[in-house]
Amino acid sequence: MFRLDGRVALVTGGSRGIGRAISLTLARAGAEVFVNYARGEAAARETCELIASAGGKAEAVGFDVADTKATEAAVQKIAKDRGRLDVVVSNAGIAIDQLLLRLKDDDIDKQLAVNLKGAIALARAAIMPMMRARWGRLIFVSSVVGEMGNPGQTAYAATKAALLGVTKTIAKEYASRNVTVNAITPGFIETDMTASLPAAAKELMVKATPLGRIGKPEDVAAAALYLASEEAGFVTGQVLRVNGGLYV
Ligand code: NAD
Repeated sequence: MFRLDGRVALVTGGSRGIGRAISLTLARAGAEVFVNYARGEAAARETCELIASAGGKAEAVGFDVADTKATEAAVQKIAKDRGRLDVVVSNAGIAIDQLLLRLKDDDIDKQLAVNLKGAIALARAAIMPMMRARWGRLIFVSSVVGEMGNPGQTAYAATKAALLGVTKTIAKEYASRNVTVNAITPGFIETDMTASLPAAAKELMVKATPLGRIGKPEDVAAAALYLASEEAGFVTGQVLRVNGGLYV
């Protein structure tokens, strides 16, 4: 079940955290995985080595998702070289936390550029080879914060909520071409993104999570594998919540 043999996948921000876990999981299921990085080349290579040492196939590919031209060129190159691009996971994301009254224009722009504009440009480039193949899986990593809000994350929450609209719209546009488009909304997951939160904030988050623990990147990766699989072929335009019950 949930095999991806012969499939080609691209995971943005695959060098660490959730993106690394997704890359490893897709590769373990048989996909050849392109692991994108913007600045963390060494970490992306490490992800590829982990995949190779487990008998999988992976290649690191550098581009900044906020650079829509570079994103488009990278996607086109993979599709041309491999003759296909079956699974694209839009995972790259940044959070610049600040209360609304202190939120700078520049920080709004940065989060919009990476989390939203970058994700749309990635999907726009990826949809062509998927349409041609009459098979494709687009997966957006959104956030529980886009569904329930969170103090200090006005711009971040806006980008993550917007991704749900993007998911539902693209799902409707390309369903007739057998391309499915879904979003995952992780809850509180242990990665670099959440590492700097004060212990008290983490404790509060665990208390608010019915399953009583912080999520692991692998929890999110399992959901991505399912959505990427043949078995999820009748699932599109959906939001898969991986949040331990934090928001239901
Ligand atoms: P992380 O900071 O460890 O990883 C983010 C990844 O995105 C890194 O690999 C980083 O290099 C990459 N990235 C950032 N800007 C980029 C750019 N311009 N171009 C290409 N790559 C870029 O954080 P994470 O927790 O693994 O987050 C992964 C995704 O999951 C993000 O979209 C994040 O918003 C989302 N998310 C995380 C949590 C959580 O609790 N950790 C919860 C919900 C959603």
